[in-house]
Amino acid sequence: MNFERLLQQRLEALRREGRYRTFADLKRRRGFFPVADHFTAMGSREVTVWCSNDYLGMGQHPKVIAAMHEAIDLVGAGSGGTRNISGTTHHHVELEHELADLHGKEQALLFTSAYVANDATLSTLAKLLPGCVIFSDEKNHASMIQGIRHGGSEKRIFRHNDVADLEAKLKQVPRDAPKIIAFESVYSMDGHIAPISAICDLAEKYGALTYLDEVHAVGMYGPRGGGIAERDGVMGRVDIINGTLAKGFGVMGGYIAGTRDLCDAIRSYASGFIFTTSLAPAIAAGALASIRHLKVSSLERARHQERARALKKSLKERRLPIMDNQSHIVPVMVGCPIHCKAVTDTLLSRYGIYVQPINYPTVPKGTERMRLTPSPVHSDEQMATLIDALGELWAACPVPNGAYVKLAAE
Ligand code: PLP
Repeated sequence: MNFERLLQQRLEALRREGRYRTFADLKRRRGFFPVADHFTAMGSREVTVWCSNDYLGMGQHPKVIAAMHEAIDLVGAGSGGTRNISGTTHHHVELEHELADLHGKEQALLFTSAYVANDATLSTLAKLLPGCVIFSDEKNHASMIQGIRHGGSEKRIFRHNDVADLEAKLKQVPRDAPKIIAFESVYSMDGHIAPISAICDLAEKYGALTYLDEVHAVGMYGPRGGGIAERDGVMGRVDIINGTLAKGFGVMGGYIAGTRDLCDAIRSYASGFIFTTSLAPAIAAGALASIRHLKVSSLERARHQERARALKKSLKERRLPIMDNQSHIVPVMVGCPIHCKAVTDTLLSRYGIYVQPINYPTVPKGTERMRLTPSPVHSDEQMATLIDALGELWAACPVPNGAYVKLAAE
């Protein structure tokens, strides 16, 4: 069998559909984000990054960087093992305490990423709760979908943010069956925000556990950065909170927070927790510094929201097709993978603006888009450059659905 040929054919199919992924080779400049150097065969060139998930710029915060340097100087580079075999360092223990406190939970458990945390926790819970049925929002992230699949339990998919549909589906399952409702607080591709309180009402009514992915909200919402559940005053009603240390907190890693027994059970049974080396202590130290800072400083959150509002306003004034929402995410609809890539390629080559095209399977076919992520460190000038560039591109080459579209679905 000619394996190479088969693989080439699969790659060719992606190219034909216009969704072959190319990665930009970037070197971020500390102290100057969102400016970075973009490396190509022709050399390097300065660009402005408009699609980073280092939402608050914490990846260059002096306290975070100092904590990481200090940890390396004190304890060296790696953790030296899995959590079970010498990889539980004091940095990990301190970070778990901080995270439990952030979410008002008894305990927290660290993973190497939020993807792993979702996969490991949902699959393990499904196996630990025989006869379990998982109710999953149709727009849930790939990591939750993977975890639910790995768990092998029955699943029911409810319409996005639709509590009536969720209730109809909960009613179909016997009251005494273990149930989990898995959903996100901020949906990263549309920027929609979940009705957490209404979902908790249903969970209480039908005896379900709630599993909330706050990956696109931790650090950024709530008085201490606890996420949308904290902002909405419902953190205590959510059973399990999943978060990342990689986006709002600017470092790397993931976690869950919940009861002592829940964390103990996942710690004891989840393969994705047990059989992998723990995060480097310096990463844990950087994340800890970031969380501590954002617990007491709302400056970054306020500026972040202001930047998002300003960008949305300017895009609307230019009649560019933004998908409106109540969050910090600014999706600009294109609706065709080839066009989407052409627009983002031109932004990069002609204007020095880096935005990654978002294609299937990240979003459904026909809804390809740009996903702009303004941060507190994007200046008015950088915003004006982006708006002018997009305006010029749309004027020269309007996309098929290029009129201003409002697709809000809170
Ligand atoms: N959950 C959601 C909703 C996400 O969008 C992502 C990543 O983008 C993850 C989980 C995984 O987070 P991490 O990058 O920490 O693995």
